[in-house]
Amino acid sequence: MDLFFFDGEPVDHKLRVLVRLDIDSTSAVVNVTGCLTGNNCKALFPVIRRAGAFAGGLAVAVDLSEAEHIDGPGLERLRQFCTGELNGEPAPEEVAVIAPAGLPQCPALMIGDPAMGVAA
Ligand SMILES: [Zn+2]
Repeated sequence: MDLFFFDGEPVDHKLRVLVRLDIDSTSAVVNVTGCLTGNNCKALFPVIRRAGAFAGGLAVAVDLSEAEHIDGPGLERLRQFCTGELNGEPAPEEVAVIAPAGLPQCPALMIGDPAMGVAA
């Protein structure tokens, strides 16, 4: 079941999030398919809270394995949010982050000039 869809404000990077839950399950999956950056990751936090508050409280898995782009600060702030280490943000109930082994580079940036290579 698709619970709700969040479409972030694009600047250069577009955050796309789909929240899924199984009606028989006790967990929700926040599936990130766009760009997760240090600038836009905070838009994800209320989505995680809403997913966790659904049906009286669900464990939440934030799945980044299909994200097109993840930058280091974005992933770091997400992890800090989940463990309650981010300033001014109380920790959510129960959140696991599923991240790929390597951080994917932004496809929008790579289209520009292949000779520039990977800037990070
Ligand atoms: Zn991007």
